[in-house]
Amino acid sequence: MPSHSVDGFVREFLHELNTNQGVMLSRSSANDQYLALASTVKNYLMARWLETGRKTRDAKTKTVGYLSAEYLLGRQLDNALLATDLNEIATKGLALCGLDLATLREQEVEPGLGNGGLGRLAACFIDSLATMDVPCIGYGIRYEYGIFRQTFVEGRQVEQPDTWLALGAPWEFPHPEASVQVNFGGHTEKYVGADGRERTRWVPAWNVLGVPYNYMVPGYLNGRVNTLRLWSAQATKAFDLQIFNSGDYAQAVRAQTFAENISKVLYPEDSTPQGKELRLQQQYFFVACSLRDFIDQELEEDFDLHNLADRITYQLNDTHPVIAVPELMRLLIDEHDFSWDEAWEVTSKCFDYTCHTLLPEALEVWPTELLGRLLPRHMEIIYQINEQFLAEVREAFPGDEIRARRMSMIAEFPERGVRMAYLSTVASSKVNGVAELHSQLLRDKVLPDFSEMWPEKFTNVTNGVTPRRFVKLSNPKLSNLITDAIGPGWVTDLERLKELEPYADVPEFKVAFREVKAANKARLTALLKQRDGIDLPDGHLLDVMVKRLHEYKRQSLKLLHIVSLYEQVLSGKIAAADVTPRTVVFGAKAAPGYKMAKDTIHLINMVAAKVNSAPEIEGRLKIAFPANYNVTLAEKLIPAADLSEQISLAGMEASGTGNMKFALNGALTIGTDDGANVEIRRLVGDKHFFLFGMNEPQVAELGAKGYNPGDYYESNQQLKATLDLILSGHFSDGDPHLFDAVVYNLLNQDRFMALADFDSYVEAQGKVEERYADEEAWTRSAILNVARSGYFSSDRSMRDYLQRIWHTSPMI
Ligand SMILES: *Cc1c(COP(=O)(O)O)cnc(C)c1O
Repeated sequence: MPSHSVDGFVREFLHELNTNQGVMLSRSSANDQYLALASTVKNYLMARWLETGRKTRDAKTKTVGYLSAEYLLGRQLDNALLATDLNEIATKGLALCGLDLATLREQEVEPGLGNGGLGRLAACFIDSLATMDVPCIGYGIRYEYGIFRQTFVEGRQVEQPDTWLALGAPWEFPHPEASVQVNFGGHTEKYVGADGRERTRWVPAWNVLGVPYNYMVPGYLNGRVNTLRLWSAQATKAFDLQIFNSGDYAQAVRAQTFAENISKVLYPEDSTPQGKELRLQQQYFFVACSLRDFIDQELEEDFDLHNLADRITYQLNDTHPVIAVPELMRLLIDEHDFSWDEAWEVTSKCFDYTCHTLLPEALEVWPTELLGRLLPRHMEIIYQINEQFLAEVREAFPGDEIRARRMSMIAEFPERGVRMAYLSTVASSKVNGVAELHSQLLRDKVLPDFSEMWPEKFTNVTNGVTPRRFVKLSNPKLSNLITDAIGPGWVTDLERLKELEPYADVPEFKVAFREVKAANKARLTALLKQRDGIDLPDGHLLDVMVKRLHEYKRQSLKLLHIVSLYEQVLSGKIAAADVTPRTVVFGAKAAPGYKMAKDTIHLINMVAAKVNSAPEIEGRLKIAFPANYNVTLAEKLIPAADLSEQISLAGMEASGTGNMKFALNGALTIGTDDGANVEIRRLVGDKHFFLFGMNEPQVAELGAKGYNPGDYYESNQQLKATLDLILSGHFSDGDPHLFDAVVYNLLNQDRFMALADFDSYVEAQGKVEERYADEEAWTRSAILNVARSGYFSSDRSMRDYLQRIWHTSPMI
């Protein structure tokens, strides 16, 4: 390992600049310098990475195989500097070279290989496992284009390709020599083996190569470096040659493109899978590579696969990787001579499933026609798993044929398809939801028949976030304040934030806490000015709603609140001077094909243009909507926030993790009784959380009774005035029909009941303003939010998985 001194660091850095980038310092670009810096830091991690691999292989303990189609990692440099404790040395070393670490940091384009919460959760989990010294390999896809870059043109979202690899990819290690072949299509054949047993052979029609790219996943100051292994698709030689020999060069090149398409782009749908063939190809591609990789590369050659579950436990991050179940069955039966029962015995011990949703349209169903065409052998295996399972159901509930039909993995309507959530549930040892309320609703509403049959299979693990990235890195000033008060142990033992509670009443601490918040606001102000040309006013309550744009998350409710305030000033119902100075910050990407979400973005931007320049408002109400919300922006926005908006319709947000990041950074939450908000409120205390809206049973009751949003419009004058102002064309440059789709959807359908919760929301915002007016009371609440949110560390989530699901422990 290079020496932990400024001189040693400088030598290493210049060496990397000269030999890797091939430039002298004086001629180097910022990108050269960033790449050389990344290589330097990697060199410090390398010995630990190799040692971790050796230690894990020797110990022959159980590894966690985290299977996830998405990893929303965020920038790597900062995290690597933190894990190696190199920040100070790098700062000084670079200064000796006349360079500024902060500038070089800004060069990094984050790998946006995920859509939102689900992908970010995977990134937090692998960070926590490394920090807790648990052997883990994260498996996923190396998308050439991650989540699109969002821009606004005249207020409308326009998507640009995310070219995150364009300027070099210093954090990855490709291993083409360890490539894996993946087959697709064709048909199956029966034949009789040498032992006289009937067997099945898959005769595929085409194949691609999976090339592994390894990424370091360093633990925090503990010497462990786990691996994230992402697969990239390439054309196989055989595929090429065959066509090449036919003399059609152009066709051969096209074939290459066809193969490489598989890992070309991340599907930008969050919560609403589109059922595209390429997506199923992606799913099978990465799990086939990952299973093969572990069995062939990680296990010793003579390993008896009957004991596979002793060495790996696969966590299915949603249903995206569940095709791994029939794939493992196929490997064991067709390639390793297992009988069906032996194979099922092993397979059913190897998998656990995390469900992330309650929205019916988010549950994946693959048409059997498509699945059977792409993966004929897997389709047969799924039918057989289903048959075996339904026999079990009929035995447990004799005569209840309706129940058996209901529980079948094969849906018959609207077309014949495989319900991937059912397959996941049947094949997994444990099924978990991601917050207490969600796990309960999962049992009661999404999979009630399954929880009745196997009550002990269902459990909860409430999500968490890594305190390394979302406090220590993103909020250094708060981190220093905390460490000065209670010592540094909280970074890996977040419950120790409890020790801050008494400081909520210490005047000097409260002053220092406010100074931190003010400095974070100043940092954000500078960033938004430079990044987006946005001017954030001083001294405003910073009210932040950042998350994917989705109707169930109800950005439109937040918008109605703003328009309502504006309308009241405009019509003279309240004086501008009586409005609490407030800046609302939105950050949100909409799936490119989700019209309602894109219209909502357009409307927010149009309202912003109008409100921000309205003289009547006297600058007391501002809307800022920086484009391209991502992890890098989150790290700057969240530490600056006063108020966290978590306003989904109760029963719709499985957990949320943004809500946890805000509480940990001293924002107060205004939120519904939904997802992990329930637990946040319980822990921080009712007084320090602004609850509003219907709870889940009330939502269900209103839905059953028949919800009519028009009733709320007619009976609430302020709501009516607010919607009428939008309908009048006030925000749409004279075109009164521009936002008809959004407004009439609210008036006629309002699936997520924004109008029903409007009154309660506005009232709760009044309480926010009251508290905010009392600086001391607000600060006290904010400090208590920090002190009482230690539970939401992803280290705790991992401990729960280890105990309740994986039955393994950190390495000694
Ligand atoms: C944490 C995070 C999310 C998830 O936010 P929710 O409010 O829980 O939906 C989405 N995107 C990014 C960039 C994040 O950091």
